[in-house]
Amino acid sequence: MKGMTAGNFIREIVEHDLKSGKHRRVVTRFPPEPNGYLHIGHAKSICLNFGLALEHGGVCHLRFDDTNPSTESVEYAEAIQADVRWLGFDWGDRMFYASGYFEQLYEYAVELIQKGKAYVDSLSAEEIRQYRGTLTEPGKDSPYRNRSVEESLDLFARMRAGEFKDGAHVLRAKIDMASPNVNMRDPTMYRIRHVAHYRTADQWCIYPTYDYAHPISDALEGITHSLCTLEFEDHRPLYDWFLDNVSVPCHPQQIEFARLNLTHTIMSKRRLLELVGKGHVGGWDDPRLPTLKGLRRRGYTPEAIRAFCEHIGVQKRDGVVEMALLEHFIREDLNKRAPRVMAVLRPLRVVLENYPEGRVEEVEAVNNPEDPGMGTRKVPFSRVLYIERDDFREVPPKKFFRLAPGQEVRLRYAYIIKCVRVVKEARTGEIVELRCTYDPETRSGGPQAGRKVKGTIHWVSATHALDAEVRLYDHLFVKADAGDVPEGQDYTVNLNPSSLERLRGVKVEPSLAGVQPGSRYQFERQGYFCVDPDSAAGRLVFNRTVALRDSWAKIEKAQQDG
Ligand code: ATP
Ligand code: MG
Repeated sequence: MKGMTAGNFIREIVEHDLKSGKHRRVVTRFPPEPNGYLHIGHAKSICLNFGLALEHGGVCHLRFDDTNPSTESVEYAEAIQADVRWLGFDWGDRMFYASGYFEQLYEYAVELIQKGKAYVDSLSAEEIRQYRGTLTEPGKDSPYRNRSVEESLDLFARMRAGEFKDGAHVLRAKIDMASPNVNMRDPTMYRIRHVAHYRTADQWCIYPTYDYAHPISDALEGITHSLCTLEFEDHRPLYDWFLDNVSVPCHPQQIEFARLNLTHTIMSKRRLLELVGKGHVGGWDDPRLPTLKGLRRRGYTPEAIRAFCEHIGVQKRDGVVEMALLEHFIREDLNKRAPRVMAVLRPLRVVLENYPEGRVEEVEAVNNPEDPGMGTRKVPFSRVLYIERDDFREVPPKKFFRLAPGQEVRLRYAYIIKCVRVVKEARTGEIVELRCTYDPETRSGGPQAGRKVKGTIHWVSATHALDAEVRLYDHLFVKADAGDVPEGQDYTVNLNPSSLERLRGVKVEPSLAGVQPGSRYQFERQGYFCVDPDSAAGRLVFNRTVALRDSWAKIEKAQQDG
């Protein structure tokens, strides 16, 4: 995989600027709006901003872009900090808020008015829209555009003082109503909104727009490279215009990159909010969501997410990344460090007729074949066991090398057994138990330890096993492009009705007693699992992080071969 890591054109720009002496130190920022929880798309931006700073001896600021009071909250701001830390990044004492600059933003706005480069407009929002023109037609000047500097200064001060109702006036930059770039047609800088802000409370009733607040905030913090997603490309001339026309200390460079899109999921905060709000999922940390809280609960590691982000790199054009690629990275990481255990998801009882009643042996099992340093453990073996229902077929198809009447299979770390009889429930015909015999010579260290049979299956001892619940997950959306919906319907038609399957009555080996939420294991042959916070004393709940089969590796191999 290494050789296939995508490029990072922004890294090249940063390195060039350091070499040429344009900057001595890189300063980036990650600027979330505290109006929702972070998702894997934000992780791309976090890894990029913090990663570039870290690699080049610079710093990355965490800045809350909190200029829109109605949707923001302290809870979101705190959750965002926790998520960035969990991903493994540290902003030190460099946490800032756009709302912390409200006074300076106000003063720079006054400076623009004084220079004749901003004016108070008293058209309604609807009229402003009409005057703006379209992509093909130029806009029209507002009748208030030539208001005197004094009048605009006076009105702006009174806007701040709370003399006017919402929508009575706005402050606009005076640029060019005929510009081919609609963003340059006298964009709004301030709106009146009599809404309390989660940090500044009732101190302000005018709030700056993103387009105005962002470049100034960047400049006040001495940001060198201001990285944002592609939809801001057309806003760059405006970003530069503000910085060129006010007396800020420096002029950061805005660079745009493509958002991360993933198949079979959605990344829009608005839609995530809807899925949670309408109960399509259990909450912001539902393991099916692409939120960092969801991925974490699912069992994803920060290391895997960072490796994934590094691998995909940054692009100048939008694209979609296969979910299978993200899954590949979590498998790679957990393969190295998750201890192996045996767990039977859909148990079928097996009685070894020739194994003495009451006898218990301890067999030695390897904790991680990838890492001998992780040692071994003892697993109890006895006369009554559970195996997976799937590992037995009464009428086996060709090449079914697991258990079948008269057929032998090896129990992992233990004996070879043979099925001698199938016990069924009289009324339904359902198989309820297998009667088997074991070959005592085939235990590890025994005279027939090396005897070969074609299949090996996992098992647990019935009297020693612990009960558990397992939650299996599938894609949240059935279509790769979750937003591809028939006309007149909404994206929820693509929700996968079987994205969650709960298995109660799972049997796991006793070494899992008392495991802590967040611990991760490989259940042999079944995938990687993480202990869910719903677990409690005497109750074990596991989420399957990812199954073992690696479809991404297959896709890559097919591409190389073909
Ligand atoms: P909204 O959905 O409200 O537009 P947003 O997704 O832009 O919000 P912000 O909180 O403003 O969310 O995002 C913080 C930073 O994360 C921004 O710099 C944004 O460009 C970046 N970001 C957001 N989504 C993605 C994504 N899918 N891929 C890469 N970066 C992203
Ligand atoms: Mg945004």
